[in-house]
Amino acid sequence: MPEIFDRANMGLSVSIRREKIAEVLIIGGGIVGSAVALGIAERGARVMMLDEGDCAFRAARGNAGLVWYQGKGQGMRQYQEWTLEATRGWPKFVDKLEELTGIEVSYRKPGGLNFCLSEAEYKSRRDLIDKIRREAEPDDYDCKMLDRTAVQELLPTIKLGDSVFGASYSVHDGHVNPLALLRALHAAFRGFGGYYYPGHSVFDIRQRAKQFVVQTFGGSFAASKLVIAAGNGTGRLAQMVGMHIPVRPEKGEILVTERTRPCLPFPCNRIQQTAEGSFLLGASQEDTGFDIQTNTRVIQCISNRARMVFPVLGKLKIIRSWASLRVITPDKMPIYEASGSSPEVFAIALHSGVTLASLHATKLADWIMDGHAPAGFQNFRCRRFNV
Ligand SMILES: Cc1cc2nc3c(=O)[nH]c(=O)nc-3n(C[C@H](O)[C@H](O)[C@H](O)COP(=O)(O)OP(=O)(O)OC[C@H]3O[C@@H](n4cnc5c(N)ncnc54)[C@H](O)[C@@H]3O)c2cc1C
Repeated sequence: MPEIFDRANMGLSVSIRREKIAEVLIIGGGIVGSAVALGIAERGARVMMLDEGDCAFRAARGNAGLVWYQGKGQGMRQYQEWTLEATRGWPKFVDKLEELTGIEVSYRKPGGLNFCLSEAEYKSRRDLIDKIRREAEPDDYDCKMLDRTAVQELLPTIKLGDSVFGASYSVHDGHVNPLALLRALHAAFRGFGGYYYPGHSVFDIRQRAKQFVVQTFGGSFAASKLVIAAGNGTGRLAQMVGMHIPVRPEKGEILVTERTRPCLPFPCNRIQQTAEGSFLLGASQEDTGFDIQTNTRVIQCISNRARMVFPVLGKLKIIRSWASLRVITPDKMPIYEASGSSPEVFAIALHSGVTLASLHATKLADWIMDGHAPAGFQNFRCRRFNV
């Protein structure tokens, strides 16, 4: 009996010794997890970020890189304001990120265009913009409708197709190289002493006294604060700590053309020219579960629409295409949820993780570390779905 008891204790002490202890554990090393992890590490905490390997579903590596404001937040003024604040924060955020890491993320903010290919599309876009403007702080919604002539004047080096009726335009829109952004976030995080563990898929989370103990295929971790920012994996992981976070995947397909001379100075919905000269076309919106196959019919629709906007694109070869999964909540607005108990767990799930990165690395990190929630932040909690 004593011998068995000793062995049991020995086993326990070995497992405790092997457990890595953090102040804050982040599950998910995509755009959202990395931005939050960076902000928290910068505040001096011991942060560990657990991530899956190369076969994971990762929106962070398949997105369009738009830092986008217009058209967002109808029905939730808080989201419109949060997005505006994020886009305003981007220039400073990028300066700091590039200075910390030396990684050029190719961020530009010339304003953005959303094309309307018929009078009906134009009217419906105008109605949406008007609705958001009515809900916004007076004079604080900076988006206008432009007719075809005004759009063509903005784009002297590329001719519009006959079906372009007009566009909406906002000065707050821009774009970034999303892969460079992810690399820079990770580098800056590590620069502040953060620990990154790829290939550490989490399969179990339990509470032990004032800590969460997290099991991964690469070992165990413990912390008194846990942030679940695992994209489409967030719902399943949150269930392990008694939270219900409703997210679902939505497929988006993107096409890339060969490079050409710079001729499109504005990022546009579904068409943008990268700093290297390629055009990115798409993304589609498809409700096909966790399927990430590209589909020839969808590729054709994306390329047809792009040629209707700019016929000259028909001369360029498509050299790549991919599909990736958005992280979609029931109303397509962010979920920021906190347990409010000790040990504390936070769950974050949203689309537009690129756009909101500037706030995730600052205000969201403050909220997680100090409990300072920005005004109106309770609107982002899950209880809005139970009304
Ligand atoms: C086609 C497309 C275009 C988009 N375009 C834009 C855009 O232009 N602008 C914009 O702002 N947003 C855009 N988005 C959305 C943006 O990419 C996402 O909001 C963002 O990537 C979500 O980040 P995330 O970190 O929550 O999720 P992800 O990037 O999916 O990362 C989740 C991470 O969690 C990890 N993970 C999951 N489960 C576990 C587990 N059990 N253990 C450990 N790790 C785990 C995964 O491996 C992954 O690395 C687009 C998305 C798509 C699909």
